[in-house]
Amino acid sequence: VERTLALIKPDAVHKANEIETILLNQGFTVLQKRRVILTAEQCSDFYSEHYGKKFFPSLVAFMTSGPIVAMVLAKENAVHQWRELIGPTNSTVAKETHSESIRALYGTNEQKNAVHGSDSEVSAEREIRFFFPNCIVE
Ligand code: ATP
Repeated sequence: VERTLALIKPDAVHKANEIETILLNQGFTVLQKRRVILTAEQCSDFYSEHYGKKFFPSLVAFMTSGPIVAMVLAKENAVHQWRELIGPTNSTVAKETHSESIRALYGTNEQKNAVHGSDSEVSAEREIRFFFPNCIVE
Protein backbone atom coordinates (compact mmCIF):
# COMPACT_ATOMS: atom_id res chain seq x y z
CA VAL A 1 0.00 0.00 0.00
CA GLU A 2 1.01 3.60 -0.65
CA ARG A 3 1.42 6.36 1.92
CA THR A 4 0.63 10.05 1.79
CA LEU A 5 0.85 13.03 4.12
CA ALA A 6 -2.37 14.71 5.18
CA LEU A 7 -2.54 17.98 7.10
CA ILE A 8 -5.59 19.36 8.83
CA LYS A 9 -4.98 23.10 8.65
CA PRO A 10 -5.65 25.64 11.46
CA ASP A 11 -9.10 26.57 10.07
CA ALA A 12 -10.36 22.97 10.38
CA VAL A 13 -8.55 21.62 13.44
CA HIS A 14 -11.73 21.99 15.49
CA LYS A 15 -13.30 19.49 13.03
CA ALA A 16 -10.37 17.06 13.09
CA ASN A 17 -12.45 14.22 14.55
CA GLU A 18 -15.13 14.55 11.85
CA ILE A 19 -12.50 14.67 9.10
CA GLU A 20 -10.79 11.59 10.54
CA THR A 21 -14.12 9.72 10.57
CA ILE A 22 -14.62 10.55 6.89
CA LEU A 23 -11.18 9.33 5.86
CA LEU A 24 -11.47 6.12 7.92
CA ASN A 25 -14.86 5.45 6.28
CA GLN A 26 -13.17 5.89 2.89
CA GLY A 27 -10.71 3.10 3.70
CA PHE A 28 -7.64 5.09 4.76
CA THR A 29 -5.56 3.88 7.70
CA VAL A 30 -3.86 6.42 10.01
CA LEU A 31 -0.27 5.19 10.53
CA GLN A 32 0.98 8.24 12.45
CA LYS A 33 -0.63 11.35 13.86
CA ARG A 34 0.79 14.52 15.48
CA ARG A 35 -0.67 17.84 16.52
CA VAL A 36 1.89 20.61 16.00
CA ILE A 37 2.29 24.37 15.79
CA LEU A 38 4.73 25.25 13.00
CA THR A 39 7.21 28.10 13.32
CA ALA A 40 7.36 30.49 10.35
CA GLU A 41 10.73 28.98 9.46
CA GLN A 42 9.43 25.40 9.46
CA CYS A 43 6.37 26.44 7.45
CA SER A 44 8.49 28.28 4.86
CA ASP A 45 10.61 25.16 4.52
CA PHE A 46 7.54 22.94 4.08
CA TYR A 47 6.08 25.27 1.42
CA SER A 48 9.45 26.23 -0.16
CA GLU A 49 8.09 25.51 -3.67
CA HIS A 50 5.79 28.53 -3.22
CA TYR A 51 8.52 30.90 -2.00
CA GLY A 52 8.33 34.24 -3.84
CA LYS A 53 4.67 33.87 -4.83
CA LYS A 54 2.29 36.68 -3.92
CA PHE A 55 0.31 34.51 -1.50
CA PHE A 56 3.37 33.09 0.29
CA PRO A 57 3.49 35.51 3.29
CA SER A 58 -0.21 35.12 4.00
CA LEU A 59 0.03 31.33 3.54
CA VAL A 60 2.77 31.21 6.19
CA ALA A 61 0.76 33.50 8.50
CA PHE A 62 -2.30 31.26 8.10
CA MET A 63 -0.47 27.97 8.56
CA THR A 64 1.29 29.20 11.72
CA SER A 65 -1.84 30.80 13.22
CA GLY A 66 -2.67 27.75 15.33
CA PRO A 67 -2.19 24.02 15.70
CA ILE A 68 -2.36 21.68 12.72
CA VAL A 69 -2.77 17.91 12.66
CA ALA A 70 -0.31 15.92 10.54
CA MET A 71 -1.17 12.34 9.60
CA VAL A 72 0.49 9.61 7.58
CA LEU A 73 -2.31 7.89 5.68
CA ALA A 74 -2.10 4.50 4.01
CA LYS A 75 -4.29 3.08 1.27
CA GLU A 76 -3.87 1.65 -2.21
CA ASN A 77 -3.08 4.63 -4.47
CA ALA A 78 -3.18 6.85 -1.35
CA VAL A 79 -1.66 10.01 -2.90
CA HIS A 80 -4.26 10.19 -5.67
CA GLN A 81 -7.15 8.89 -3.56
CA TRP A 82 -6.56 11.49 -0.83
CA ARG A 83 -6.33 14.35 -3.38
CA GLU A 84 -9.63 13.11 -4.84
CA LEU A 85 -11.29 13.05 -1.41
CA ILE A 86 -10.12 16.57 -0.46
CA GLY A 87 -11.19 18.15 -3.76
CA PRO A 88 -9.96 21.28 -5.61
CA THR A 89 -7.48 23.67 -3.91
CA ASN A 90 -9.99 26.52 -3.83
CA SER A 91 -12.80 25.65 -1.41
CA THR A 92 -15.15 28.08 -3.16
CA VAL A 93 -14.68 26.07 -6.36
CA ALA A 94 -14.93 22.80 -4.41
CA LYS A 95 -18.35 23.80 -3.05
CA GLU A 96 -19.57 24.28 -6.65
CA THR A 97 -17.97 21.29 -8.34
CA HIS A 98 -17.15 18.68 -5.65
CA SER A 99 -19.75 19.33 -2.98
CA GLU A 100 -18.99 16.12 -1.05
CA SER A 101 -15.24 16.81 -0.86
CA ILE A 102 -13.53 17.71 2.42
CA ARG A 103 -12.54 21.16 1.15
CA ALA A 104 -16.15 21.83 0.13
CA LEU A 105 -17.42 20.70 3.53
CA TYR A 106 -14.80 22.30 5.80
CA GLY A 107 -12.93 24.97 3.81
CA THR A 108 -13.76 28.60 3.09
CA ASN A 109 -11.75 29.96 0.14
CA GLU A 110 -8.53 29.55 -1.87
CA GLN A 111 -6.35 29.87 1.23
CA LYS A 112 -8.46 28.54 4.10
CA ASN A 113 -9.07 25.15 2.54
CA ALA A 114 -9.08 22.88 5.60
CA VAL A 115 -6.61 20.22 4.48
CA HIS A 116 -3.45 19.44 2.57
CA GLY A 117 -2.46 16.38 0.56
CA SER A 118 0.89 15.50 -1.00
CA ASP A 119 0.81 15.96 -4.77
CA SER A 120 3.06 13.00 -5.73
CA GLU A 121 4.72 9.93 -4.23
CA VAL A 122 8.05 11.82 -4.13
CA SER A 123 6.47 14.77 -2.27
CA ALA A 124 4.70 12.35 0.05
CA GLU A 125 7.96 10.75 1.17
CA ARG A 126 9.59 14.17 1.69
CA GLU A 127 6.60 15.53 3.58
CA ILE A 128 6.25 12.40 5.75
CA ARG A 129 9.93 12.72 6.72
CA PHE A 130 9.37 16.42 7.45
CA PHE A 131 6.73 15.72 10.09
CA PHE A 132 7.82 12.24 11.18
CA PRO A 133 11.62 12.09 10.90
CA ASN A 134 11.78 8.87 12.92
CA CYS A 135 9.14 7.10 10.85
CA ILE A 136 10.44 3.79 9.50
CA VAL A 137 10.04 3.35 5.74
CA GLU A 138 9.45 -0.26 4.71
P1 ATP B 1 -1.84 21.73 -0.59
O1 ATP B 1 -0.40 21.75 -1.08
O2 ATP B 1 -2.06 22.52 0.67
O3 ATP B 1 -2.49 20.39 -0.58
P2 ATP B 1 -2.62 22.33 -3.22
O4 ATP B 1 -1.53 21.47 -3.69
O5 ATP B 1 -4.00 22.03 -3.63
O6 ATP B 1 -2.68 22.51 -1.67
P3 ATP B 1 -0.95 24.58 -3.82
O7 ATP B 1 -1.09 25.23 -5.13
O8 ATP B 1 0.22 23.68 -3.55
O9 ATP B 1 -2.33 23.84 -3.53
O10 ATP B 1 -0.98 25.72 -2.71
C1 ATP B 1 -0.64 25.45 -1.38
C2 ATP B 1 -1.59 26.17 -0.47
O11 ATP B 1 -1.43 27.58 -0.59
C3 ATP B 1 -3.07 25.94 -0.78
O12 ATP B 1 -3.57 24.75 -0.22
C4 ATP B 1 -3.73 27.16 -0.18
O13 ATP B 1 -3.88 27.05 1.24
C5 ATP B 1 -2.69 28.23 -0.48
N1 ATP B 1 -2.97 28.91 -1.74
C6 ATP B 1 -2.81 28.42 -3.00
N2 ATP B 1 -3.13 29.34 -3.93
C7 ATP B 1 -3.50 30.44 -3.24
C8 ATP B 1 -3.93 31.75 -3.63
N3 ATP B 1 -4.04 32.10 -4.92
N4 ATP B 1 -4.22 32.62 -2.65
C9 ATP B 1 -4.10 32.30 -1.36
N5 ATP B 1 -3.69 31.10 -0.93
C10 ATP B 1 -3.40 30.18 -1.85
